[in-house]
Amino acid sequence: MMEMVVAASYETDAYIRVKEGLNPSIADCPHCWAKAYVESGEVSVCFACGETVAADCGHCGTRIDVNEYNQDYPELCSYCAHMLEKVMRE
Ligand SMILES: [Zn+2]
Ligand SMILES: [Zn+2]
Repeated sequence: MMEMVVAASYETDAYIRVKEGLNPSIADCPHCWAKAYVESGEVSVCFACGETVAADCGHCGTRIDVNEYNQDYPELCSYCAHMLEKVMRE
């Protein structure tokens, strides 16, 4: 329970930092489409719905952030998703 509180205050802190323009990485959330997805390198989470897309690509191991995330291939980075789509079309 205590850990939850610490995590929550840490993330709120990060959100404020981002909002103040020190780290302007707020994106549209792929889950709820709120413009509340914070991608700072340390934090990768939507402050509206609590979802995260952070993961490592199942194919090449690249870190997936909100910019790499592809709803059709949530386990792949944008490059691998693109390559897979190409293969599927052929
Ligand atoms: Zn969201
Ligand atoms: Zn990949």
